[in-house]
Amino acid sequence: MVAMESRTIEQLNSENIVLQEKVAELSAINKIAHILGTSLEFEEFLDQFIVAIQDIVKCDHVLILVQDDQETILQYGASNFKLPGDQQSNLEGLRIGTFQPEPGSIVDTWSNGNSVWAKPQTNEDNLSIKWLSTYLKTDSFFGTPLRSENNLIGAIIIDNSTSGKPIEKEHQYWLETISPSGAMALQNARLHHKTVRELADSMREMYILRQIDRELSDTININHVFEMTLDWALRFSNAQSTSLALFDQESNTLHFLFEYGYDVPQEQLDIIRQEYGSGITARVANSGYAEVVPDVSMDPDFVRMATNTRSQMAVPVMREDRVVAVITLDSKKLNGFTDAHLDFVQKLATRAGVAIDNARLYEEAIREREKLSHILNNTADMVMVIGNDERIILINQAALNAMQLYTNQDYTRRLASETFEHTALWATFQRAKNSGENIIEEVMMPNERIFHANLRRFEGIGWIVVMHDVTPYKEMDKLKGELIATVSHDLKQPLSVMNGYIELMIMQQSVTQQGLNSVHMIRKAMQNMRQLIDDLLDLAKIESGIKLNLEAVQIEQIIQDCIEQVKPAAQNKAITVINNITETLPAIMADRSRMRQILINLIGNGVKYTGTEGWVKIGSEIKSNTLRIAIQDNGMGISPEDQIHVFERFYRVRRPETDNIEGTGLGLAIVKSLVEAHGGQITVESKLGEGTTFYLALPIAQS
Ligand code: ADP
Repeated sequence: MVAMESRTIEQLNSENIVLQEKVAELSAINKIAHILGTSLEFEEFLDQFIVAIQDIVKCDHVLILVQDDQETILQYGASNFKLPGDQQSNLEGLRIGTFQPEPGSIVDTWSNGNSVWAKPQTNEDNLSIKWLSTYLKTDSFFGTPLRSENNLIGAIIIDNSTSGKPIEKEHQYWLETISPSGAMALQNARLHHKTVRELADSMREMYILRQIDRELSDTININHVFEMTLDWALRFSNAQSTSLALFDQESNTLHFLFEYGYDVPQEQLDIIRQEYGSGITARVANSGYAEVVPDVSMDPDFVRMATNTRSQMAVPVMREDRVVAVITLDSKKLNGFTDAHLDFVQKLATRAGVAIDNARLYEEAIREREKLSHILNNTADMVMVIGNDERIILINQAALNAMQLYTNQDYTRRLASETFEHTALWATFQRAKNSGENIIEEVMMPNERIFHANLRRFEGIGWIVVMHDVTPYKEMDKLKGELIATVSHDLKQPLSVMNGYIELMIMQQSVTQQGLNSVHMIRKAMQNMRQLIDDLLDLAKIESGIKLNLEAVQIEQIIQDCIEQVKPAAQNKAITVINNITETLPAIMADRSRMRQILINLIGNGVKYTGTEGWVKIGSEIKSNTLRIAIQDNGMGISPEDQIHVFERFYRVRRPETDNIEGTGLGLAIVKSLVEAHGGQITVESKLGEGTTFYLALPIAQS
């Protein structure tokens, strides 16, 4: 209290003033801080910032400079400076470099955290102040830096040129008071602005990449892929020029395919490259790693192709682990490429790599297709592919000829029924379709030629039909058959005469015992010869189209008869013949005696080619409309090489173990012809030394 009383009115007044000043200072800072919280929109923030500065500092004009994203310049942010006429737009173009500023220049002073007070007399000595005074059309201004964590992020410039009042210490005081919180507010607004923009950029990037993917997947032209890639790279990275070079790893050479935006003429580019090499592009081609060079003047490898290039980015286009091309982008800005630019161009390069692959694969596929179609159209074999929808996928010239279709018409996509229903192949195709099995058979085509047809089902495709013209073989075969038939017939007659005399000699008993032995040998040989001739004649008859006496027969009964018939031979070798058919089988349409001939042959062979104490088993199986009879033995077996030939005439397997077995090699040929005459099929499965199974597939009679 005592102290209080001792204070004078003056003292109190001056304390009051200090207090008021402090309050004013606080309220000014508060005001700036308030802006920080209210506006997120960058432009709006800058406008409000100007109003607040003007309000607190009490000056005529305010100009706020802000640093650009690359942090290389201070540029116009917002202002209420009024320059005469068209110079207002100049103001908005105001840019001051911050990269390596001259010592003592405005930027240098600001970077060090100091304000600049330009007065007419100082303007003359300091070039940068003089330049800015002229630019802003004012001879006195005050500029204070906006710094965040010691980095220059902007500046505030004020002047009083309208009112003509000089800038006072007070102005300086207020401006410097609010600048730290102003800088904080600016930094926040910038960060927010940057985040929003980055978000928009990544949205844009996503959108563009989607579009790129769509366009690239539609493109099969490699040059077009490159052109599009460069166009997007240029647009997205704000580069001024770009090139794309193909790289050949073997010869280590770059071939520049596209170049955009260089101010040096094309011929000169080539000359420069010949003389100085391809600089950073070549480096990236060799390393396979993308590079961003923020300042080309610092890179010893850089080769200048455009006068104003200041930074460069080069990205490799890879296929598997090889560099196939390099995209190079030039910017006239220092540090002109951000991580986002690099990331985007790398994504583009990846896509271009895939697109190149696709385009190459497509070209290869086309080439292969042309080759294949050339081969297909020049082969004498009929080739046809039918899709699952029963439409023609492929049909070659030979097929068109054989079907007597128009050779100059395109039958692809046509229905199979429209294309070959008129041919015998249609029935074969229907059978293959209904049974789901592959079919191999001979078909007579409308051009009256006989084809060996092979119909195969391919999952996911449909059916492939390959048909080989066997007409010449058929004709030769027929001739051979006729010849054999004639000769055999002519042989039969002298054979009968010889046989008569032999029998007479035996009856007359006019020869010695030794002579009689020889006569018996001759009789045996003649019997074999007769068997051979009978077989030959029989085969010729069957092949020329025998008339079968078809009736519904129960094959299990015939099998039982045949077993009885071969029993003596089997018993001689202690071979067991086992009939595994116990149930009644569906009837088949067959010629009873021919069916017996078939089965005797097969069961007889089983006994003939099986060693003592072996077995022969007969079984059956029903599969859709087919009755399958299996005649299995555990005899000597047939090698795969011999299996293909056993149904041929006169084919006999030559092995030591078959040496003493008699035969003509005609049995299976007759069996095959007979089975086929019945509309059936015969196949063999065998393993040498283990045994053989013959399968007889016969169509079941439709009741
Ligand atoms: P062959 O009169 O020689 O018996 P085939 O036409 O009946 O004539 O048979 C042709 C050849 O097939 C025979 O020579 C024989 O080597 C072989 N073969 C036939 N059936 C069998 C079988 N069940 N086991 C082993 N080989 C056989």
